[in-house]
Amino acid sequence: MERYPQLVVDLAHARENVENLVKRCADRGVRMTGVIKVTNGLPEMCQAYYDGGCRTLASSRIEHLKSLKEKGIGEEFELLRIPMMSEIPDVIKYADISLNSDGSVLEALNAEALRQGKVHRVILMVEVGDLREGYWDREELLRDALKVENDFDGLYLEGVGMNVGCYGSVLPTFENMQDLVDAAEMIEASIGRKLDTISGGGTSSLMRIFDGDIPERINELRVGGEPLAAYTLKNVYGYPMEWQHEDVIRLRMEVLEVRRKPSHPIGELAVDAFGHSNTYEDRGERLRAILGGGRLDYGEPQDIPNGNPGIEILGASSDHTIIDLEDCPIEYKPGDFIEFRIKYTQLMYLTLNPLTHIKYIE
Ligand SMILES: *Cc1c(COP(=O)(O)O)cnc(C)c1O
Repeated sequence: MERYPQLVVDLAHARENVENLVKRCADRGVRMTGVIKVTNGLPEMCQAYYDGGCRTLASSRIEHLKSLKEKGIGEEFELLRIPMMSEIPDVIKYADISLNSDGSVLEALNAEALRQGKVHRVILMVEVGDLREGYWDREELLRDALKVENDFDGLYLEGVGMNVGCYGSVLPTFENMQDLVDAAEMIEASIGRKLDTISGGGTSSLMRIFDGDIPERINELRVGGEPLAAYTLKNVYGYPMEWQHEDVIRLRMEVLEVRRKPSHPIGELAVDAFGHSNTYEDRGERLRAILGGGRLDYGEPQDIPNGNPGIEILGASSDHTIIDLEDCPIEYKPGDFIEFRIKYTQLMYLTLNPLTHIKYIE
């Protein structure tokens, strides 16, 4: 018996999407690190990044890296979120590389690495304008880089990195990436050697690969959701992406009730279950259905890309999604399932959720 809500995951298509991106990056001299946090470390999906050609698997969560290491998936692990002081022993134990932006944290990492008899590789994050993590003052950056290079025997200065788009909505440009390269070259001039890694951002930085205007010395990108939930590059930034599979992961929810009802609630209106006051358009009586799955499963209903002609997502409570079927050519009845396209946010929640039934196909 199939159980719902269900994620149907086409692993062959996932792998092909990764392979394609890895190849496009490689053509420009860029390594693609596979960011697996959006899959919450689910082994089959992480394996697809590795099999698609990502030698390094990365996550913001040390727990994901620990679980991959224990399952023997991947060979090199990178921690993306700048480390918490409270997780330093695990960072040294489970991550080969981490992104960093604080002198006192570097000092703690060094002490722990020496204690565990390891050399831990660090990438120093440079603030280029998105206003999340990173050194803003280039002198402080240089000072900490020199400390890692000369004084911290438990650490190896792997390189520098940047992040844009995540908080400040800043676009990756030749200029802000060159800003990172300038910071790298300032450090290189002081330490007298080349840095191994100059990491130019996440999925959005792929635009500079596609347009062919990525600064030459950028040699790594950290790419997460796009190969699994293709959306942003095509639908937000307008790249054709015709070679990319859009059907890697689909959400199926079961139909619980189909009925004609008025479209405007009847009675005195206050707030919904989440304390929001809503407006409802009165379109007369319409055919509606209820699906078994709601905010508890996937977050906000209006964020679902849907992809079904004639089906409109009207709203959701914790466990029910309410849809309009008036213009839908297909006749649904209880027990049927309806399949939706998803993007990053839904994938993030659904893969974390123990109530999601996941079905892998090849
Ligand atoms: C999540 C994350 C990424 C990957 O972001 P995507 O938008 O999924 O490609 C890259 N770098 C850092 C620091 C991250 O936390």
